[in-house]
Amino acid sequence: MKISVVGTGYVGLVTGTCFAELGNDVICSDIDQKKIAVLNNGGVPIYEPGLEELIERNVKEGRLLFTTDVADSVKQGEIVFIAVGTPPGEDGSADLKYVKDVARTIADNIEQYKIIVNKSTVPVGTGDIVSGIIREKYQGEFDVVSNPEFLREGNAIHDCLHPDRVVIGNCGNKRAEKMMKMLYKPLKCPILFTDVKSAEIIKYASNSLLATEISFINNISNLSEKVGADINKIAEGMKLDHRIGKSAFLNAGCGYGGSCFPKDVKALINTIKGYGIDPVILEAVEEVNNFQKLSVISKLKQLVPELNGKKVAVWGLSFKPNTDDMREAVSLEVIPVLIKEGAKVFAFDPVSSEEAKKILTGDVSYCETSYQAIEGAAALLILTEWDEFKQVDKKKVKELLKTPNIVDGRNIFDPKEMKELGFNYLSIGR
Ligand code: NAD
Repeated sequence: MKISVVGTGYVGLVTGTCFAELGNDVICSDIDQKKIAVLNNGGVPIYEPGLEELIERNVKEGRLLFTTDVADSVKQGEIVFIAVGTPPGEDGSADLKYVKDVARTIADNIEQYKIIVNKSTVPVGTGDIVSGIIREKYQGEFDVVSNPEFLREGNAIHDCLHPDRVVIGNCGNKRAEKMMKMLYKPLKCPILFTDVKSAEIIKYASNSLLATEISFINNISNLSEKVGADINKIAEGMKLDHRIGKSAFLNAGCGYGGSCFPKDVKALINTIKGYGIDPVILEAVEEVNNFQKLSVISKLKQLVPELNGKKVAVWGLSFKPNTDDMREAVSLEVIPVLIKEGAKVFAFDPVSSEEAKKILTGDVSYCETSYQAIEGAAALLILTEWDEFKQVDKKKVKELLKTPNIVDGRNIFDPKEMKELGFNYLSIGR
């Protein structure tokens, strides 16, 4: 099939590349000239394990192209995917500016039947908005389909090629259903066909439930901590209940961040309120998360009551491991507080320091290695659970730190072992 993917960010680039890998002819377009230039020069603008090789192979085999000519790419696609950003507006609602821009470009360039697919995460009703914009200028046949994306950054290729499910919201047109079925057939996963609105809600409801699980376990972790229980064991015990499930998102830590959960929870709150319903659960989810992010600062102060003038090491800047995505990362909230308290921040992240430099203001020293960051530090704060931190030489860490203080916001070490090694070690809910 001829596929056009408009928006070559984390989702557009990965899904476009995976569609090419499945044998389709794919054009990925973007208005960001720098991004497309990087791709056309053989580079990859984001960090995503395995992506570079996949792009290289599909470009070489002529199935994958990158362009800034969005209009032309729209003309060429039998199926046009909208994969642009939907960032939060001031009131928390999803800003549909980019989606509407693409819809206008489609309206100006559509000449024959096409399926327009909303892959961006969009509030319920957006399918109708996109249809309306196209219909104003084009009287021919087309279908607007909702096909939300569930990939996880850091595992994006696996998730794209082996998804738990594919959701396709369609207004009942058999032609669109048949083509979408054909496109996803090689993936051999359950395909759920729904109406457009249900598909739009499935995406927000799924992310919001995952965020709820995180905030739920974090709330319980505060109880666990007060009474001297172990939140990891609590989660383990809960997951053995089949109704909760072994894959439940019950990872206690210093809160969720990233490009999806925070904005999607906000947007769903906004939508729910818009229909006169009280979003009581999701408001609590946000409240717990905000508390949890800054809880690492209170823990740090238990170990180092006066931060002014002290060197504090931070391991992990991206919102989670295996990505360089800094959107709503916990580090963006924690580091400014450390700086405000007068701490000298020495940060290390295996891949996202360059991204962090663009966003983080204030005096942060970016280090080349994890060990360099902790040399002579009054404490170490762990904000992202990169594998290399889990495998670190703990004896060396103890020697390098000025005082063996560690606040582990991601529970990567065993408290008993850390105590035996002589660390003052605080983690979450243990
Ligand atoms: P992103 O910011 O990485 O990429 C969006 C891209 O769209 C940018 O490169 C931007 O330049 C481009 N763009 C904006 N306007 C354009 C236009 N008019 N024409 C062509 N290109 C245009 O965003 P992302 O993380 O890929 O997310 C895209 C959507 O997918 C969002 O709605 C997001 O919620 C959803 N989503 C993201 C993830 C994820 O893990 N990042 C997962 C599932 C769903």
